[in-house]
Amino acid sequence: MSVLPWGLLPDSAEVGADGQLLVGGCDVGELADEFGTPLFVYDEAQLRARCAEAVAAFGDGVAYATKAFLCRAMAKLAHEEGMHLDVASGGELAVALSAGVPADRVVLHGNNKSDDELVAARAAGVGRIVVDSFDELDRLERLHAADGIVPKVLLRITPGVEAHTHEFVMTGQDDSKFGFGLKVGDAARAVERAQASGGVELVGIHAHIGSQVFVAGFFEQAVEALAPFVNETGLPELSIGGGIGVAYIEGEEAPSITEWGAVVRAACEQAGITARVSAEPGRSIAAAAGITLYRVGTVKEVPGIRTFVAVDGGFIDNPRPALYGSGYETFAPARVAADRTDVVRLVGKHCESGDVIVPDAKLPPGIAVGDLVATPVTGAYGRSMGSNYNLLARPAVVFVADGKARLVIRRETEADLLATDVG
Ligand SMILES: *Cc1c(COP(=O)(O)O)cnc(C)c1O
Repeated sequence: MSVLPWGLLPDSAEVGADGQLLVGGCDVGELADEFGTPLFVYDEAQLRARCAEAVAAFGDGVAYATKAFLCRAMAKLAHEEGMHLDVASGGELAVALSAGVPADRVVLHGNNKSDDELVAARAAGVGRIVVDSFDELDRLERLHAADGIVPKVLLRITPGVEAHTHEFVMTGQDDSKFGFGLKVGDAARAVERAQASGGVELVGIHAHIGSQVFVAGFFEQAVEALAPFVNETGLPELSIGGGIGVAYIEGEEAPSITEWGAVVRAACEQAGITARVSAEPGRSIAAAAGITLYRVGTVKEVPGIRTFVAVDGGFIDNPRPALYGSGYETFAPARVAADRTDVVRLVGKHCESGDVIVPDAKLPPGIAVGDLVATPVTGAYGRSMGSNYNLLARPAVVFVADGKARLVIRRETEADLLATDVG
C-alpha cells in the first residue's frame, strides 16, 4: 500500500463523501473549477496557528520571513497573529506596508541593499535594519548625513556553523556571501564601527545558518558559537534567524516550531545569553499549509521507458525540484485516500527537459487527461520563487477556511505580461 501520508496535507484536510479532498471545508475539485489551475490553496487557519505558535515559542519580536510566501493577505494575517515581518527587498517592503503593517514591525534584510531600498525603509521607519557589510555601514552613514535619520540596526554575523542542508541554502559557514565573519574578526570590527557611528543605533546581533534544517541541534551549535561574542557586546537583542525544516515527503520528520523554540531558548540560557532572543521562520509557517492543484493535459506512454503525465504548471509555480532536487509527494484530489500504485513522471509545460515536478510520482491507477493532480507542502518558496518563463501567467492563490474560499492573488493575464513591455 502506498497511500499519501495524511500528515503532509493541511491540518483541515478531510475526505469528502465521494472520496475527494476537502481543505478548509472546501472541495478542492470545485476550487479548481472556479479559480482555474494551477492553483495554490492555503489552509488559512493553519497559517494563523503556525504564526501563533511562533509567537508563543519566541515571544514578541519573532518575524515571519516573507520571502517564503508574500501577498497583502499573508502580510496582514501574520501581523494580526502578532508576528513582525522580515522583508529582503524594496518590493517585499512595499507589499508589507501596503497591507497596513506598521513600519516599526518590519525588519529589512539583504546582502546588497540599494540606496533606494535603504532610503525607503528608513523614511518609512522600519523597526530594524539587519546590516550585512561594511559597504552598507558606509551607505547608511552617507544617507544619515543627508537626512539625519538614525535607524535601529542588528549586525548579521556568520557564526561558522555548517548546518547540513542543501549547499544553496546553507548560510552560516565561513565562506558565505552573507554577514560579518565571526572567526576572521569582521564581526568584532563591525560592532566597534557601528557603536562609534552616528548613522545607526546598534541594538543587536543576527545570525541565520540556513534553510530546511532538520536538526534543532545545529541551532544549539550556532548559539554556542555566538554566545561569547553576544555576551561581550552586551547588546539587548539576538535574532537566531529562520531555517527550521519541514517534512515534504514520506518518512521525513522535522521539529515543530515549539520544539525549535525550546531548544534555542535552552541553549541561550545554558550559554548565559541575557539578550532578548527572537527568530524569523518562513518555511515552517507557510509550507505545509499550502497545496498546488494541477490539471493533467497530456499523458504520454513511452513504450518500455515510462509514462509522462504533463500538467499545466512547472517552473512557473515550483522551481525547487530543478534548483535543489527537492522531492514532493503527489496525489489525485478526487481520490485522496486511494492506493497510489502507478509510478509516472510528473512534468510541467515549459520548454525544458528539466521541468520535472516529481521524477517518480506515485498516483492511483488510471490518471487521465482532465484529471486533477496535486502536490502537498507547496506553501513556501513555490509561488514566491516562480517565474514567468515561457511567458506563462503565474497562478492564482486562494485562502480557504470554514467552507469559504477567498481569492488573495488573482491569476496573471496576458495583459499583465504585456504591461511592462513598452517597446
Ligand atoms: C530565508 C531567511 C529566513 C527564513 O528561512 P526559512 O528557512 O524559510 O525559515 C529567515 N531569515 C533570513 C535572514 C533569511 O534569509
